[in-house]
Amino acid sequence: MSSPDALKAAVRDVVDFPKPGIVFKDITPILANGPLFRETITRFCDLAEGQNVSKIVGIDARGFIFAAAVADRLGLGFVPVRKKGKLPWKTRSQAYALEYGESIVELHEDAVAPGERVMLVDDLLATGGTARAALDLLSGLGAEIVSVAFLIELGFLNGREHLAPHTVHSILHYA
Ligand code: AMP
Repeated sequence: MSSPDALKAAVRDVVDFPKPGIVFKDITPILANGPLFRETITRFCDLAEGQNVSKIVGIDARGFIFAAAVADRLGLGFVPVRKKGKLPWKTRSQAYALEYGESIVELHEDAVAPGERVMLVDDLLATGGTARAALDLLSGLGAEIVSVAFLIELGFLNGREHLAPHTVHSILHYA
């Protein structure tokens, strides 16, 4: 496996997207490169190793790309945390703060069983609001959250502080 530098070099910074002042971390060059995409999935899988995880939970939408591939590689179930209004069955909802206003994520009530060991996966940790809401939904169903894993962590936003006491991993860290 190559160093994370090759992955980091493939992340494209897009200035002022989706609005002025934001530097958007575009991961599509990693997705489009077979060896780099595979290495990313391998690194996520390594984080789950030995943890007796039974489900991989992904956050809408870029989290799905990684979480589903990890679940398939490990032979585990995949669970989607979706934006409001997309899940058809009985759902639990959790609101969280955005820069302006709020958003809502949802989880099917039967997505995980009490005591089931899960790993939560998303593409990027910024302020941590989205992941916190997903964790609260999982905790509400009684899931045992083994860890939370991101491809990218924007460390300067201190998002990991909002995810305590859970174990947080990131493959690429930006200080
Ligand atoms: P947050 O809730 O602040 O941690 O934001 C995390 C979510 O917003 C992730 O699902 C990311 O996909 C997206 N996001 C936030 N900031 C960025 C950024 N600078 N570049 C790319 N995606 C971002």
